[in-house]
Amino acid sequence: MKIFKDKHTLQKEILKTEGISFVPTMGGLHKGHISLIKQSKKTKLKTLVSIFVNPKQFNKKSDFKSYPRNTKKDIKLLKKLMVDYLYIPTFKDIYGFKPKSKVFLDKSSKKLCGKFRKGHFEGVLNVVNRFIEIIKPRYIFLGKKDYQQLYLIKKHIEKRKIRSKIVECKTIRENNGIACSSRNLNLSKSQMIIASNIFHYLRSLKKKIKKNYSLFNINKIKKELIKLGANKIDYLENYNTKNFKKVKKPYKEYNLFFAYYIKKVRLIDNI
Ligand code: AMP
Repeated sequence: MKIFKDKHTLQKEILKTEGISFVPTMGGLHKGHISLIKQSKKTKLKTLVSIFVNPKQFNKKSDFKSYPRNTKKDIKLLKKLMVDYLYIPTFKDIYGFKPKSKVFLDKSSKKLCGKFRKGHFEGVLNVVNRFIEIIKPRYIFLGKKDYQQLYLIKKHIEKRKIRSKIVECKTIRENNGIACSSRNLNLSKSQMIIASNIFHYLRSLKKKIKKNYSLFNINKIKKELIKLGANKIDYLENYNTKNFKKVKKPYKEYNLFFAYYIKKVRLIDNI
């Protein structure tokens, strides 16, 4: 595996290839990332993984600081997975140039996570736009766990007529049901159990509301989550996954999107 810290040497290398399958990450690698990488490797193009904890997408400094980082362990894992290229850029490498393409931010960026994390999606699209210009990937592998992010990146790519193709990858879960996430590393064992209980409660709720939508009583559900051990709930809403609009009637295809805190750890998922 070749490791790059600067975009010019990376770009020289990319010129020698027939195209790149790109897996962007913030490190703290887990089974979710591994599944993206395995799918990327199936393309037969060179797989490039990036690790960059993007400060611009964190609305709180403390959250940026406490974000799990373990580059040594990540490198070991990526080598084992026979990844071709790893790009670990510095802040300057990413932000020290003016991108040709302007970020397109769909209006749905103001909903859900966008409402509770001011500037978050502006930061995400900014960094993704820059990575795309540096790498010009043929494919970009993204997880449905961060569905709103995936939706907004797709809209940007469509609007700016970028030739990269997004490959949507299913959410990988721990045995206890919760979505794999780097942030889980900041949970204690007992907090993991709380997260798992909340997941199982919401999954069975979703099954019930499919049959009887009047059971979707947000205040009641939020109270139940607090009882189960959540400390704060940012949102709990049903959204149509095709057009990313809030679902008001039960017959539409939708996912239940939620974000909540266990102490200081913020968890998001959709089921
Ligand atoms: P992150 O390192 O959290 O920025 O995530 C990098 C990529 O991995 C994003 O496309 C995420 O959506 C994806 N990802 C994170 N967790 C999971 C998961 N549990 N299952 C599938 N994909 C995931």
